[in-house]
Amino acid sequence: MTTSSTLTEKGRRDCLTGFDVEKVREDFPILKVKVHGKPLVYLDNAATAQKPQVVIDTISTYYMVENSNIHRGIHFLSLQATRAYEDARDKIKHFLNASHTREIIFVRGTTEGINLVAQSYGRPFIKEGDEIVISAMEHHSNIVPWQMLCEQVGAKLRVIPIDDDGELLIDEYGKLLNQRTKFVSVAHLSNALGTISPVKQIIEMAHRFGVPVLLDGAQATPHLKVDVQDLDCDFYAFSGHKLFGPTGVGVLYGKADLLEAMPPYHGGGDMISSVTFEKTLYNVLPYKFEAGTPNIAGGVGLGAAIDYLNGIGLEAVATYEHELLSYATEAVSQIPGVRLIGTAKQKACVLSFVVDDIHAHDVGTILDEEGVAIRTGHHCAMPVMQRFGVPATARASLAFYNTRKEIDTLVAGIRKVKEVFADV
Ligand SMILES: *Cc1c(COP(=O)(O)O)cnc(C)c1O
Repeated sequence: MTTSSTLTEKGRRDCLTGFDVEKVREDFPILKVKVHGKPLVYLDNAATAQKPQVVIDTISTYYMVENSNIHRGIHFLSLQATRAYEDARDKIKHFLNASHTREIIFVRGTTEGINLVAQSYGRPFIKEGDEIVISAMEHHSNIVPWQMLCEQVGAKLRVIPIDDDGELLIDEYGKLLNQRTKFVSVAHLSNALGTISPVKQIIEMAHRFGVPVLLDGAQATPHLKVDVQDLDCDFYAFSGHKLFGPTGVGVLYGKADLLEAMPPYHGGGDMISSVTFEKTLYNVLPYKFEAGTPNIAGGVGLGAAIDYLNGIGLEAVATYEHELLSYATEAVSQIPGVRLIGTAKQKACVLSFVVDDIHAHDVGTILDEEGVAIRTGHHCAMPVMQRFGVPATARASLAFYNTRKEIDTLVAGIRKVKEVFADV
């Protein structure tokens, strides 16, 4: 197995940030892949991040020597698998600085985490005429579950507007809060705009009304240090695959007293303590919310991804990425005819833009021929596109293994797009 990079070799460090990106890149086998005969420049990290060798090895080792079902057997492998899975839960607890592993629920991803809260918290505690507050920059997975709940119980959705830079209008948020407000759910970091929202302030303002807050942490966890106790959020959801871990596994953090008060989301094996046809007694936290055989290898792989990230250090990651984003922002915005969408003062990792009258899909297609992978479209945030009056944007999203040289390739590619369209 490979060990995580500790970045101790002084000579190879990036002169500005002290971050050895070339060494880090060696940990990610996919970065050596060629696309259309050119080196892959992977700038679609907000859609999913690449996996270091140690995560890949951990998953295959799990299947080679540990695979078994958890929480059920008394045989050696079952106990081994259970231990590996519960170790991963403990790593996640430390990663989020939660106070207890009871508060860490394994789910399939951010989407399932938010749906769980919308249904298990929303159904019993949110009633007709109540209001749920989200923001204008949410991913569809933090809009639709709340709309579904609103239809079921007769509640209303209220939306915090954003300004032309893509920042939340905090005063408008303050005006939305009232006695009818029963829940607030917002993104910590926007996948479409890169905006880091002042979530601590948002939470504090909601708590003055006794309103719980869920943070969608799908984008924040790979880029920012998250401390759920310091934030004092009531729920926090994120996805393993955006955090350099596998797909199909994610986490919902919830404060224990809230989780205790909520009914289970799914029924089945593992979430019960006893079953008769007359009555079923539910299992304790967190198992009450974990019906059925989970993605065991995925959970163990996510634990390895967290170990890897801790080995590099989220502070070093944030510093390096901040510098890289500044470099990219300056270079891309200097190209004539390019307009950035999302220019908040507090930003991370995302560079959304439009080029003259050229459709984003054409930008993406020509960049692909150069080996550059970006995302084009609405980024699962159609209301954001409507707010900025564009059908789609091109989005380059960074991770700590991206380099300035790759940004230069992106910039050359965008210039090429403009040349191609100037000729037609
Ligand atoms: C990716 C993403 C989601 C959805 O995550 P899944 O892994 O698809 O469940 C939700 N919110 C934001 C901000 C995202 O970037």
